[in-house]
Parts: sequence; structure tokens; C-alpha cells
Amino acid sequence: MKSFLRRPATAMVPMVQRWASTMSKNVVLAQCGCGGVQFEADLRKGIPQLTVCNCAACRKVTGAVQLPFLALPRKSVTFTEEATLREWEPTALAKRLFCTGCGAQIAMDYREENTIWICLGLLCDDQHFNDWLKNVVNDDGHINLKYPCGHIFWESRPPIVEVLYGDHTHLPVSEDFGVYVYDAAQE
Ligand SMILES: [Zn+2]
Ligand SMILES: [Zn+2]
Repeated sequence: MKSFLRRPATAMVPMVQRWASTMSKNVVLAQCGCGGVQFEADLRKGIPQLTVCNCAACRKVTGAVQLPFLALPRKSVTFTEEATLREWEPTALAKRLFCTGCGAQIAMDYREENTIWICLGLLCDDQHFNDWLKNVVNDDGHINLKYPCGHIFWESRPPIVEVLYGDHTHLPVSEDFGVYVYDAAQE
């Protein structure tokens, strides 16, 4: 875990209290289901890339059909509580960060020097994130980010994806990692 900027572990502070003390509108507060993992994501320092992974491995670790990620500069992610944060390294390619308390997936770490891929669902309940989102979604509902966004490992999607979501998506689809270009160092 040394690659992240971290604060010393602190006593658990209720989310509502921390929420009220947030310094910047651009800092999103996120936590897992049990609160054993909490972090701040600063959206000012880079325009992220968003992907929805359709690979079987993501299904196995989440129980969900797909797993969306938001790429962020490592320096923009600060863990403020990590009592239950652990790493699992199923392949040499990447580490998965997860919570041993509630089982939440936290992030995918491809060992890229500057970039970390946060599980998007952890951010979605902070109003600051949703305010940011309004600024990157066009009138027609498409997302407008600097780097290509879309479904990756589309070839690995199971048939239930069509049953649940239909045969089309707002986002472009690609096989394997698709256009995998985000590098926070370029910001
Ligand atoms: Zn947890
Ligand atoms: Zn995946």
C-alpha cells in the first residue's frame, strides 16, 4: 500500500460529520459498506477516463454483472481510513484492492506509476461527484471526457447483459482494454 498518499489511520469519524467539513466542492468523499475503507478523491487534478469492465474476473469478485471504474491520478486519491483495506493479486498484471469487513471492491491497481482505477460505485453517493458529472454529460446523455470512455472486454459480456440493458449502450464498446490511454502524468 505504499504507493498511495495516505494519512495516518484515524479513529472512525461518522461520514456525515466528515462530509460537512469538506474543504472543496471538488473533493468527493467515499467509503465502503462498513466504513473500514474511506478515501477522498480530488477531481480537480485530472480529467478522468471511465470504463465499464465486462470481464468474468470482475463478475467473480463482485457478484455484479459489470464493474465500472474511474481512472484518477494517484495523487488525487487519499485514503483516510484503511483498517480493512487489503490487496489481492490474482495475476501479475494487476492488484485488486478490497475491504475485508464488507467485501467491497475498492480499486484496480495496474501498477501504473500515476494512475489508479477506483470502483465507480463508491463515489456515486456524494453530491460533489454528481455535480461534477453534470458538467461532463451532454444534453443527449452522452458523457464528454477527454479520454475515450466505454465498455471494455465487451467480448466477455454474458448474454444477461442484453437481457438487462438491451442490445445497445450510450458508451462505445471495445474488446480487451480498448483504447487504454489515460495517464495522469500528462495532466
Ligand atoms: Zn467495508
Ligand atoms: Zn474486469
